[in-house]
Amino acid sequence: MRCAAVILAGGSGRRMNNKIPKQFMDIGGKPVLWYSVRTFSETDFIDEIVIVSDESHREYIEKEIVDLYGFHKVSTVTAGGRERYHSVSHGLEAVSRDTDYVFIHDGARPFVTAHTIERCFHYVKKYNAAVAAVRSKDTVKVGNDDGFVVSTPDRANVWQVQTPQCFAYTMIRDAYRHLLDDEDRLKAAGVAVTDDTMVAKMYADADARLVESTYENIKITTPDDLIYAESIIDR
Ligand code: C5P
Repeated sequence: MRCAAVILAGGSGRRMNNKIPKQFMDIGGKPVLWYSVRTFSETDFIDEIVIVSDESHREYIEKEIVDLYGFHKVSTVTAGGRERYHSVSHGLEAVSRDTDYVFIHDGARPFVTAHTIERCFHYVKKYNAAVAAVRSKDTVKVGNDDGFVVSTPDRANVWQVQTPQCFAYTMIRDAYRHLLDDEDRLKAAGVAVTDDTMVAKMYADADARLVESTYENIKITTPDDLIYAESIIDR
């Protein structure tokens, strides 16, 4: 059985107000991206890692992360796209054809644990789709365009999804091909594609199994996340 990880490091990080994208900022003396590449590299059943990034950062990633730390499972650093889903699709097309399962992971989430990856692997083999998530600590409201509350989902069933999001490889690759064919229609309909389980549901009718992860598996997004990240590393 062959498993691949697609680690996303494209995107400009507009919310960070910094020239350096969040996935390359320094935490604990290493770039944010280094942490998840290390965790996937050290996972036995992961055979291959594809990093997706902006063309202008390819050399930096190859030299300062892959070569410097000897991450030999990284087969390619491939070019990203305008939206996250473009980057995912480039990554999926770059992994080996004989891959059975693929883990899609945000390079901006340094604290994914080996345990979460193992639990996702367990469930993806059973259900073809699995996603790391945490239960919502807050009550969540659905609002309308005018800013009023319209409904309150039962908190027991509300989850915040993270990555990794894991899938049977050909299923998700083909789902992404359909998505790109369908892009204009989705845009016209105002549908925002924000995660991979959404694509799996829309184009492969796959129901992803929620896999309880940790609250520390944060996505570094705003400057205060860097302070929290440092405190996690200090611990
Ligand atoms: O922008 P967002 O916070 O949703 O990004 C989540 C992950 O997707 C990050 O790791 C980012 O590097 C990646 N991304 C990408 N290509 C884009 C946009 C985001 O690889 N066009």
